[in-house]
Amino acid sequence: MAYQHAFLIIIDGLPLNTFQQAEIPFIRQLIAAGAQSTTCEVNTLPTVSRGAHATIATGVTPAQHGIYGNRYYDRIQKRVRGFGPAQLRRVTFAHYAEQQGKRVAVTGNKGLGLSDGSLEALLPGDEGGSGALEILGKGASILRTVKNDPMLRDARRQILSEIQQKNTASYTKYIEFDNVAARLVFDILEHDHPDILAVNFVGADKAIHAYGPTSPEALQTLANIDRLIQCMFERVNPHQTFCLITADHGNTAVTRHIDLTTSGTHAGSIEAIVTEGRRSARIYLSDRASLPEVEMRYRHHPGVGLVKVNHNDPFTNGDLWLYAAGQTTFGVDTKITRRACHGSPADSDRLVPMVIWNPLQANGYRIQQQTDIAGALAHAMNFRIRNGSPTRI
Ligand SMILES: [Zn+2]
Repeated sequence: MAYQHAFLIIIDGLPLNTFQQAEIPFIRQLIAAGAQSTTCEVNTLPTVSRGAHATIATGVTPAQHGIYGNRYYDRIQKRVRGFGPAQLRRVTFAHYAEQQGKRVAVTGNKGLGLSDGSLEALLPGDEGGSGALEILGKGASILRTVKNDPMLRDARRQILSEIQQKNTASYTKYIEFDNVAARLVFDILEHDHPDILAVNFVGADKAIHAYGPTSPEALQTLANIDRLIQCMFERVNPHQTFCLITADHGNTAVTRHIDLTTSGTHAGSIEAIVTEGRRSARIYLSDRASLPEVEMRYRHHPGVGLVKVNHNDPFTNGDLWLYAAGQTTFGVDTKITRRACHGSPADSDRLVPMVIWNPLQANGYRIQQQTDIAGALAHAMNFRIRNGSPTRI
């Protein structure tokens, strides 16, 4: 059994709960004739884009692949840096597929240039940036992101200038971002003929951040993605195409904001705090701090649901990891600008949709975790992965 094509469609930041409420007739057709898992979990913590894309790419967890999230604090240079493909310690499915004669394309519209804080209120989210796509596409012969693709760059410039002029955010802009990504997908399918195509649609995550997980705006963005996926299927033979539709992580509606810098009295004991997805944070202690003391204080800190001492490379990844309780969001000198955030192990952040279109072998895969994705693609497209990731068939 081997397919002509495989699609891996990642709907950014889409929680299972939102997916189940959405009007997505084409995806529902795929489920009716194919399969879905309603217990698929993101086995990546914190539940943010770069770590999750690395888990999807390699089929192993962050402790093995080394991408612990979006960002970390560099204690030597004393600044926050992003995790990137250079730190990936395992080989990706794209690399193995290419080595065994398959063409792999990875694309998407992440990386909107939101490092400028003034844009946060207008277009929240996207800390994962194009770095997530560079990790997923490491080893792919076709990797088109906002960094190297003129079509994506022009679209970004135009959309950002519109938003800045009107000084208002509109979910239709998120839809426009997805439409541009889809145009690129159609272009790649027509001209590059990849065997495997992976695409990230970023609009859902951003609409959910700005308007909430079950807002009409989020559901509209999802309905548009449904139409774009239908258009992708119109360009291939659906009976010779394997397809997985999932999300890198979920999202949680938030109502309460905790500023981790002002609400504690940790002066002197903390060197840096890096929030991830705003529902998790890495704490980097200073040399003179007592870890048990700071740990105990955070255990009683309002809004903190879980405190973990980190043993995986604490020099880079921090000494303590905090996860938000209930509907709390963390910030460091930030105001609440988002209706939903992610990063924690709560069900809403961790459970994602998993649609399996596998017409040559209906119900042939049990995909229950993010680590199962790479192996399922390898099996469907007849190449081998040799990095210790599971293949559940
Ligand atoms: Zn996000």
